[in-house]
Amino acid sequence: MQVNWREIPAARNSFAVLRAACEATGWYLHPVPQPASDITCYSLNSISEPRYHDEIADADCITVVGGPHATACWREVSAYADYVVVGEGEYTLPRLLAELEVGKDEHIPGVATRDWYEPAKSSVRLDAYPPFSEVMGYVEISRGCPFSCGYCQTPQIFGHCMRHRSIDEIVRYANRYGQARFVTPNAFAYGSDGIHPRFDRIEHLLKKLSHQIFFGTFPSEVRPEFICEESLSLITGYCTNTKLHFGAQSGSDAILSRLHRGHTIAEAIRAAELCYDTGITPVVDFIVGFPFETDEDQRETASAIQEVARMGKIHVHRFIPLPGTPLAGTRARSLLSETEKICGELALGGKLTGSWNKPEIRFFRRRLK
Ligand code: SF4
Repeated sequence: MQVNWREIPAARNSFAVLRAACEATGWYLHPVPQPASDITCYSLNSISEPRYHDEIADADCITVVGGPHATACWREVSAYADYVVVGEGEYTLPRLLAELEVGKDEHIPGVATRDWYEPAKSSVRLDAYPPFSEVMGYVEISRGCPFSCGYCQTPQIFGHCMRHRSIDEIVRYANRYGQARFVTPNAFAYGSDGIHPRFDRIEHLLKKLSHQIFFGTFPSEVRPEFICEESLSLITGYCTNTKLHFGAQSGSDAILSRLHRGHTIAEAIRAAELCYDTGITPVVDFIVGFPFETDEDQRETASAIQEVARMGKIHVHRFIPLPGTPLAGTRARSLLSETEKICGELALGGKLTGSWNKPEIRFFRRRLK
């Protein structure tokens, strides 16, 4: 039985993770540019889904679809795909493949079909699966998030309890390459419950890594209230990166509160100042166009963008109501012409990148130099 993986640029790290997990149980995922027999697997986000919808529906092979969009919208996806892997795939996908090989079609928790679904019974333990094998990926050091930001799919997919890969396992994989880069919702939360930092554990990890370490920057980030003298000293003392990436998201405390962000704009500005004073460039995310954002809220965001841009770089996203999130089904509000002007001028000056007018860009790989 040949099992294929549909090549999708935005899903490269998922391929690395799932190929490694499948290899461990004897399955080799062949990358393919179109669906092919016997089975083709997909990982879709909500921007890529329309592009692959018809291809999957018309495929002349068994189709298995996972990823953030399939997890949030498994009912819709199971109407045109044969199987939908809901949530984490490391355990569920190999189990489904084993069933398909022997011609069984048993109900598997975590796999939705057109007429059956039951959630997976447990969460993946990160140490039980390698982060990658021969297809290089970033090392996922933590999964899950205790916060519930209204626009974010992460806790919906991975839950609110943070799980961590052990230091020994991280070191085993990260030291294979000249650069160590990590996947985590908040790098400064490594080893903790996600709310109360354990910088001692991070230092223990960083001490054991060789080569160049990039921590709290692409492809991961940190939360602003975790930025302090102690955490910044870990970056200056052990890491190669001279930038730190974090989300402020809005310049309005009313919006931050409504999003359940768990921090204020003053804390985000203070984090940027601390980075700047330490010689680290803050790279700060903002989202514009929340459905309940008033003109005054948006002006406060534009003002915060200008303030932070004096110290570092800005990445702006236009709000997208992602399925499965508390704000699913809402609509982005329009941008004020003054907001567009501020973003445009900062972009021309090399201080700002992003997708305030083209939200789909957010889903493609970004890297601020
Ligand atoms: S935006 Fe970050 S902090 Fe908020 S829920 Fe998502 S992963 Fe957690």
